[in-house]
Amino acid sequence: VSEATKVTDGSLEDECFFCSRYPVDFRLKETEHLKKETQQNLIKLKYAHLKRLRAVKNRAKTMEYFDSVMYTHDQRIKELMALKKQGFKVIGTFCIMIPEEIMFAANAIPVRLCGGFYDAIYPAEEVLPKNICPAVKSALGTYILDLNPFYKLCDAVIVPTTCDAKKKLASVIANFMPVMVMDVPNTRESIQASEYWYGQTRLLVKKLEQLTGKGLSRRNLERAIKRQNERTSALRRLLELRKAPLQVVNERDFLLVVQSAQYDDVDRWLQKTNELCAELENNLKNKVGIAPQDAPRILLTGSPVLWPNFKVLNIMEDLGAVCVADDSCSGTQYLYNPVEVSDWSKNSMIRAVAERAILPCICPCFTHGDDRIDRILELYDTFKAEGIIYHVLRLCQIFDMEFLPVDKVVNDKGIPLLKIETEYSEEDTGQIKTRVEAFIEMIKTRRPRR
Ligand code: SF4
Ligand code: SF4
Repeated sequence: VSEATKVTDGSLEDECFFCSRYPVDFRLKETEHLKKETQQNLIKLKYAHLKRLRAVKNRAKTMEYFDSVMYTHDQRIKELMALKKQGFKVIGTFCIMIPEEIMFAANAIPVRLCGGFYDAIYPAEEVLPKNICPAVKSALGTYILDLNPFYKLCDAVIVPTTCDAKKKLASVIANFMPVMVMDVPNTRESIQASEYWYGQTRLLVKKLEQLTGKGLSRRNLERAIKRQNERTSALRRLLELRKAPLQVVNERDFLLVVQSAQYDDVDRWLQKTNELCAELENNLKNKVGIAPQDAPRILLTGSPVLWPNFKVLNIMEDLGAVCVADDSCSGTQYLYNPVEVSDWSKNSMIRAVAERAILPCICPCFTHGDDRIDRILELYDTFKAEGIIYHVLRLCQIFDMEFLPVDKVVNDKGIPLLKIETEYSEEDTGQIKTRVEAFIEMIKTRRPRR
């Protein structure tokens, strides 16, 4: 890495990008037929998904907008290409720790690249070990097979050093794209960790300034923070609705709304989400629900549920249960906490944004998992859940290792809990269905007799 790529901020210094000095060619030979086959599979899968989602009785009409964002990317791709011509940069991201407010304020547009497509896994296994979680294999596979059109638009990718799989994914991507790394501390509790992360965030400002060639202004940052907080309020408004005894939106649609926010134009997403909330509030007032009021209420926790891998939700919701909330980085967590700014100086705002990114974050990549248990219990109570499904993607060690303490605490409280360890493939659908069915029955038998 040449000196020119270094960025400094006071005593802090880091390389702006990291590109592999020993690049490996990750393109697979003779992949054309495989590309075609997987592209066709993705089209079939999208079609089957949409059919399933649209078959839900009383589904909100505004959801069609979010369907279009998630299932056809054409409009957004055109917009991003136009923005790039105006000097904006598109940045691929993973996880939820990269402060998006900084990116928006620096004329950079984040698009999340986490992967949930099963057919992309096999090509990734040609170049990665098999014993890695499907989310990471799918993220790389979609690049190899050209299945994710956002990759091509990315000027750089920012990878936070969260779990081991993500850390090493950064070095894999550095073979074909410039990578910025944000070094996430292992704990959030100490002042030193907090200061270190603040330093990482300040360096991110410098890196983005170097990439876009524009200074990050105080005014742009203030505007980006206020916009981000409006998004948080819109998501909280949607969450509020799900506390009601009658469900007017299911978790699959909720995830479409959240995950579309990771690609879509911010203003349009805000407008559509508020329109959706208004429609759902009206449905609630008129008692128009998507499931009977007595449907068993389940809280989903654990590994991310990344579009289009909605297998566990399809099983749960097709069996008549409703997933009333989740604590996942692919859902509720993404926009759960607002940025709290004490004064609107630039440095204070950068600090506030840095704090918002990790202090309330319950990702198990941090050493202590007690806050996650507190969040699970809080969500269980406030959303009046009757049972918890703990979702572990196979080989996702951090969630698997946190199962034991969660199991102990919820067991002591007499809360029903079911652990499901699964892959993206449909092979285990029958077996999971049987277990979820028994779990739902058990929840029903625990209800007080009228
Ligand atoms: S749980 Fe944490 S490490 Fe895993 S994908 Fe989400 S934010 Fe990233
Ligand atoms: S947290 Fe788990 S699912 Fe997410 S990238 Fe890491 S190993 Fe994969």
